[in-house]
Amino acid sequence: MLEIEIVPCLADNYAYLIRDGRSGLCGVVDPSEPDPVERALAAHGWRLTHILNTHHHFDHTGGNLPLKEKSHAEIVGPAKDRDRIPGIDAGVDESTPWQFGDRKVRVLEIPAHTRAHIAFVFDDDDAVFTGDTLFSMGCGRLFEGTPDMMWTSLSKLMRLKDSMRIFCGHEYTASNGRFALTLEPGNPDLIARMKEVESLRAAKAPTIPSTLSVEKKTNPFLRPDSPEMRRTLNMVSATNVEVFAEIRRRKDAF
Ligand SMILES: [Zn+2]
Repeated sequence: MLEIEIVPCLADNYAYLIRDGRSGLCGVVDPSEPDPVERALAAHGWRLTHILNTHHHFDHTGGNLPLKEKSHAEIVGPAKDRDRIPGIDAGVDESTPWQFGDRKVRVLEIPAHTRAHIAFVFDDDDAVFTGDTLFSMGCGRLFEGTPDMMWTSLSKLMRLKDSMRIFCGHEYTASNGRFALTLEPGNPDLIARMKEVESLRAAKAPTIPSTLSVEKKTNPFLRPDSPEMRRTLNMVSATNVEVFAEIRRRKDAF
């Protein structure tokens, strides 16, 4: 099993150390800044061999160059955004899968937050790194894409196994959940998840990882077909993309 360690960075970012005990390979996903990553590596006595980026934003790549300078780690990121990933060595996309030791890692192209955003899927470990596309109970802002594009990207993630653990780029869960409750105040799964999230946050613990199964029941952006939400939005006969776009518009103003 892949070891995964959450590394809080900046105000509300998460980087993740991933380590394969058999090969000794150790990667970091989306290092915002080098120091917390180096402290976590030192605490475990792990040596960094790979840096993985889901997209080019600085709060996901700010640690790339300083970490590479010290460790000579290989930087892996979206091939279609080579020019915007600092220090990139290997560009990957859906047609060029990538390998971490003897693990096959699937790359999903999930654009809209940025035009070349990707996810790294570790099928055998039930883990997907979703960057700023899918959050717990939320999704990323549409900086470089349309609602249609984001709905297609989220639909791709929804086809993963329900047991898949979701490791995302930010701790936005509590605020996302408060927004979700404005749309589906009667959703019992959402109410239960919010209770859990509130007690985790009160203990200053991460709400991550979530699972795809929990997200399908609680994340409004994955639920445009929910009858309760459609009634709240007065969009009973709209398409899923139209409902999704309205949820995104409301969240931007929340
Ligand atoms: Zn971002």
